[in-house]
Amino acid sequence: MLTQLLLASNNAGKLKEFSALLAPLGISQIVPQGQLGIPEAEEPYGTFIENALAKARHASRLSGLPALADDSGLCVDALGGAPGVLSARYAGEPKSDQRNNEALLAALDGTENRQAHYYCVLVLVRSAEDPQPIIADAVWRGHILPAARGEGGFGYDPLFQAQGYEISVAEMASAEKNRISHRAQALAQLVNRLQALQK
Ligand code: IMP
Repeated sequence: MLTQLLLASNNAGKLKEFSALLAPLGISQIVPQGQLGIPEAEEPYGTFIENALAKARHASRLSGLPALADDSGLCVDALGGAPGVLSARYAGEPKSDQRNNEALLAALDGTENRQAHYYCVLVLVRSAEDPQPIIADAVWRGHILPAARGEGGFGYDPLFQAQGYEISVAEMASAEKNRISHRAQALAQLVNRLQALQK
């Protein structure tokens, strides 16, 4: 049974969220890769799934442990899915949420179709060469607002209004976001997949 997992991230928020949801499945120890001195993997690919798989394999190879990686971003319909895998660095280096948001507003200036979605994929490999990675993914649909609103969240949250809401994600309570976001939905799906494997 899977009890120990390496997390291919050093994000404290993700560690807490993943630990809470995976503990009931007997996965009692989730170790962030930095704790073992594992450097971040390259993410050179054009799709989220390829990057997540590369991160999970890299972490598993260097630790000898099963590894979980995620990759996520914002995809805007009128921009052909951009910023996509380049979400974190849409406005170039050094990465800046503020400049990314400004670049997104500029790219959509005068555009009527503002439909967009957040996407998250999770990949769990039981070994670096696992031929059957466990994959879960989810989208969170919404649209891009004409101007930034709110102080919460991170990334594109001040510009993203989720379907069914009249506020931006940056104006949403964080507990609410963590219940319904692309990451939360993908994690719930991963838990279902793991439960099915344990039966
Ligand atoms: P990562 O997969 O956590 O590294 O996220 C990649 C980038 O996608 C982030 O730097 C943000 O720009 C964007 N992103 C992913 N998830 C969210 C979210 O929940 N809110 C806002 N931006 C997000």
